[in-house]
Amino acid sequence: ASASTPAKMEGGEGNKTEEEDDKDDKAAQSLLNKLIRSNLVNTTNQVEVLQRDPNSPLYSVKSFEELRLKPQLLQGVYAMGFNRPSKIQENALPLMLAEPPQNLIAQSQSGTGKTAAFVLAMLSHVDPNNKFPQCLCVSPTYELALQTGKVIEQMGKYYSEVKLVYGIRGNKLQRGTQLQEQVVIGTPGTMLDWCLKFKFIDPKKIKVFVLDEADVMIATQGHQDQSIRIQRMLPKQCQMLLFSATFEETVWNFAQRIVPDPNIVKLKREEETLDTIKQYYVLCNSKEEKFMALCNIYGAITIAQAMIFCHTRKTAGWLAGELSREGHQVALLSGEMQVEQRAAVIDRFREGKEKVLVTTNVCARGIDVEQVSVVINFDLPVDRDGNPDNETYLHRIGRTGRFGKRGLAINMVDSKFSMNVLNKIQDHFNKKIEKLDTDDLDEIE
Ligand code: ADP
Repeated sequence: ASASTPAKMEGGEGNKTEEEDDKDDKAAQSLLNKLIRSNLVNTTNQVEVLQRDPNSPLYSVKSFEELRLKPQLLQGVYAMGFNRPSKIQENALPLMLAEPPQNLIAQSQSGTGKTAAFVLAMLSHVDPNNKFPQCLCVSPTYELALQTGKVIEQMGKYYSEVKLVYGIRGNKLQRGTQLQEQVVIGTPGTMLDWCLKFKFIDPKKIKVFVLDEADVMIATQGHQDQSIRIQRMLPKQCQMLLFSATFEETVWNFAQRIVPDPNIVKLKREEETLDTIKQYYVLCNSKEEKFMALCNIYGAITIAQAMIFCHTRKTAGWLAGELSREGHQVALLSGEMQVEQRAAVIDRFREGKEKVLVTTNVCARGIDVEQVSVVINFDLPVDRDGNPDNETYLHRIGRTGRFGKRGLAINMVDSKFSMNVLNKIQDHFNKKIEKLDTDDLDEIE
């Protein structure tokens, strides 16, 4: 499969509503995850399957051969370095490739192989001899659509008869165009226009409809409506597939409107725990004192790699500067950076080029850096109202069972207010956070 990538559009970034900001934030995180992800997320959890027809046997496959893929596609799969299906693919692929094709709602965290699965399903169902669109895939943003498009191109590398086109803002086609490409990937607004207003696509000929990142999609009401309007134009026998990283009530309601009679495949996220973490706090009076304490800690123990969390971009910037002056190799992850820049910073840190990563929470949410053994909360996590943010605390310092390594978390407390936050966090998890005296650091390690 191949396509020409249109030039990047200039967006009107000036006046954003809160809804748009929130959506951007989710979409940006999803993109960041894709950019920094180079392999599958491991999981020990079992896949849950709810079949539409509970009497039909439950198929799962342990190899790609069992799926009887077209040889060109199998070659593409192996060229991508996949040896065997991921957990979610084991169950989702047989359902998606069954005859007649089955509808599916699938949920699992990012990095578990959803995209690869539906790309394989789309490429399996197209007939390259028919020169018209047969698969539609909608994504929440331009950038996410491009990422998925790349996967289609990679997977379809040996199946060059199949062509791909991007239905995204900025890809202007002449009126009266009839698309010849078999696969169309794009954002809901443009895709709806292409089907309805410009009739570049005949929706009645679509065999597979994929809605990706449903949880990001529904953050924008407009996208939700547009997706439903596209879905309504498709024939009854069209296969409907919906994917999401999370599954709140709202996602579920939307999913049911998009996918009639669904099979459901779910993979629980690995639980994080504080069991293998030693937690400490340090009492200080100001941010300068916190910085001194940090230096003492660095002087006393060997820290391979640490992540340091600050509440604001300003503090993060200041701290990164101070640490560099002390001779540390510091990476700074900050909110004003483009997603691509953030991905580059994280990559460098993962490769060990820097030993300290200073960041605000927003930037680092949802990112696993497995080799980090020390996490420092330069500021404790609080929500907008100043209440302790237990979930973020757990996510920053918690470990999933699979890594199993022991970790160290150090919390900097600089006021009655933050002491109060710390106490509440301690109570919430019912795990003791010990006081650390930074003039006498023999006890840690
Ligand atoms: P998701 O859509 O759930 O975020 P992806 O399909 O993007 O997950 O897969 C995550 C990463 O794992 C990608 O780098 C992808 O190339 C890789 N991957 C997907 N399926 C397999 C597999 N069966 N074997 C090895 N790697 C895989």
